[in-house]
Amino acid sequence: MKILKLMIPGPVEPEADVMEAMGGPVVAHYGPEWTALYNETTEMLKQIFRTAGDVFLLIGSGSAAVDASIGSALATGEKIILGVNGFFGERMTLIGRAYGLDVVPVEAEWGQPLRPADFADAIRRNPDARAIGAVHLETSTTVVNPIAEIGQVAGRHGIPYIVDAVSSIGGLEMRMDDWGIDFCASASQKCLGAPPGLAPVAVGPGGWEAVERVGNPHHGWYLNLRVWREYADKWSHFHPFPTTMATNTTLALRTSVKNLLEAGIEQRLDRYCELARYLRAQLRQIGYEPFTPDEEMAPVLTGAYGPPGIPTGKIVSFVADEYDIKISGGLGERLEDKIVRIGHMTPTVGRADIDRVIEALAAARDALANEA
Ligand SMILES: *Cc1c(COP(=O)(O)O)cnc(C)c1O
Repeated sequence: MKILKLMIPGPVEPEADVMEAMGGPVVAHYGPEWTALYNETTEMLKQIFRTAGDVFLLIGSGSAAVDASIGSALATGEKIILGVNGFFGERMTLIGRAYGLDVVPVEAEWGQPLRPADFADAIRRNPDARAIGAVHLETSTTVVNPIAEIGQVAGRHGIPYIVDAVSSIGGLEMRMDDWGIDFCASASQKCLGAPPGLAPVAVGPGGWEAVERVGNPHHGWYLNLRVWREYADKWSHFHPFPTTMATNTTLALRTSVKNLLEAGIEQRLDRYCELARYLRAQLRQIGYEPFTPDEEMAPVLTGAYGPPGIPTGKIVSFVADEYDIKISGGLGERLEDKIVRIGHMTPTVGRADIDRVIEALAAARDALANEA
């Protein structure tokens, strides 16, 4: 398989020491020494989520963390209000419906942020709703949703709040507790900078209240946060999770989050913003108009319209074939072949990579315009 420079919104190219940690010997997933390494990792993640709640490393992709949150917070037949302005908002509704929930979507156009007032309206119209949920960075459209403001609405109504922060944690500001988030879902392979395989999920006191209110809803075992808490309590010094842990991936994630904290969360965020502005300016110069306004930019992911008449799927292939760089096209019917998406959610992407991708996009524009 040809190795491409990854500039997609996950998985990202991890730093070299992260891959070294990943490639070390396989160790047993229990015992005090292992438990200390695991706990060190979850403690660092708490700093990144900015929560005093609990963090678990679910073994799976980001969707596992979203699934566990929704499935643990509500019982079948209950109502959930979910923001939908892209592919991953839609995925939340699919997960909700798969649990037999009555899903009330709060929609915004793909490309527009969700409106907090719409959540307030939805709660007023659906006083029996048991939770609300939204995606932080809607990766499919590169739109950042007003997660803190939606959290204020949830707080005013005393309703549990579930956030899909899969593509934002580590790359956008996150203040889980200050913003009133009760369940926060993430993944190892995006801004956290490790290979895919772990889905860190954080649960605050309001989240546990919801879990306790529901009791045992028969929502399975593996992604049931009750089960994860039970093992974290009863096997705390030996094996604080229910199953075999993905030890190598945990060691990789431990290294990448340590690097993030050592670099400084704020410094890392500033660097991403600077790269995003640099990329946007260059995209405009070569005729690729950014998909969202600069004031609303996602610092770790940039979308742009392709030059008129060229399907962006062709641009993505050209950039991979001719420049060995993997970028993304639009996700979902509405944006497919309309936009390109360039991920810069890792310290392994720098200015030189931005210059190179710009060169590739300009070459794609010229080559494919001649073809058209
Ligand atoms: C990537 C992503 C997911 C899904 O993650 P998987 O790891 O593929 O399950 C969910 N939500 C958002 C916002 C994402 O960017």
